Amino acid sequence: MNNIKVAIIGSGPAGLAAGVYTARAQLAPTIFAGFKSGGQLMWTTDVENFPGFKDGVAGPQLIVNMMEQAQRFGTTIAYEFVTAVDTTQRPFKLWTQLPKGVMPDTFEAAKPEELLAFQAEIKQNEPTYTADAIIIATGASSIMLGCKGEQEFLGRGVSTCAVCDAAFYRDKKVYVVGGGDSAMEDTLALTKFAKEITVIHRRDSFRASKIMQDRVLNHEKVKVMWNSSIKEVKGEKNVSAIILETDGNEQELPADGVFVAIGHRPQTSVFNGSVELDTHGYVLTRQSFSKQGVAMATAALNDKDLVNFPTMTSVEGVFAGGDNVDVRYKQAITAAGQGVMAALDAERWLEAQN
Ligand code: NAP
Repeated sequence: MNNIKVAIIGSGPAGLAAGVYTARAQLAPTIFAGFKSGGQLMWTTDVENFPGFKDGVAGPQLIVNMMEQAQRFGTTIAYEFVTAVDTTQRPFKLWTQLPKGVMPDTFEAAKPEELLAFQAEIKQNEPTYTADAIIIATGASSIMLGCKGEQEFLGRGVSTCAVCDAAFYRDKKVYVVGGGDSAMEDTLALTKFAKEITVIHRRDSFRASKIMQDRVLNHEKVKVMWNSSIKEVKGEKNVSAIILETDGNEQELPADGVFVAIGHRPQTSVFNGSVELDTHGYVLTRQSFSKQGVAMATAALNDKDLVNFPTMTSVEGVFAGGDNVDVRYKQAITAAGQGVMAALDAERWLEAQN
């Protein structure tokens, strides 16, 4: 069985940045790239807000650059999906096989009880690897509407990140779907550029914080369509219209852009029961932006009142960074930064073990 010093699970910006740093620290990391390597940037066209690329860069190109940079210093990229972990003793155990007869898509879509049964079966086998430290960098995915045309026009008028894409919609007519803080934040980001923003919400009240709601509802460029949902996104090369249903009536409306802001799903189900997750499934660390994170940080203060190993999870030796931890920022650059923090913490923690 192969023992790895640092197993990095996930190959988006957080995992790859952790790879660059741990490889340069001579820790010979292995990045487990998963079924679909690269994360959310693989579905992004132009990235214009990643510092260092003054003319922008295509999302997949940015991932290839980071991957090659990590490999240059000795990172191994394993095109395997970690299906189960055992963090109860060190070295930690990792399995990458699937249960008999189960396809990757079925495994990924498994409900919690089903997944536990799959993992129990997998753990009957010898682990595929052991690891001295683990960095969880599996990211999060945007929850999508699932309506006709949505996938087809992703990156061509359908977006899940207004902070990234708002500037492409100067003087355009756009729609934001959702009623939470993300939808409010996206709407406000778009008011700086778009001509007209319509928020589409499935109920008759928002769940966002009052202050964000007020800013949106009082903005002159913003309209709200309550009790409404998008049935279809239409267009040729790019989005040109939506079919909107309100109280059972359908209408076609011109549209230049559709921003889907109905939440994110952290990709952490494999770790459920191995490290502490919050109620939404985000991995808890000492730097989680929540009461639980603050409690973990407080319990980890050293004699100088500084938090020891801020990226450590509830399990000593298991670290996490990127969108699977971050409920708030979710940018490629913040994910990369958090991956670096996890790498530095893992390096220092491993040093302290010797
Ligand atoms: P959220 O709070 O879960 O809100 C999701 C919204 O999308 C809800 O309004 C929900 O409608 C709607 N929705 C869900 N599924 C839908 C579907 N299939 N079709 C149409 N609409 C759908 O998610 P979020 O806004 O991403 O926020 C997540 C967390 O991060 C929250 O705790 C939030 O406070 C926090 N956050 C904070 C900030 C900030 O403080 N600056 C910014 C962003 C996020 P219903 O209301 O009907 O359920």
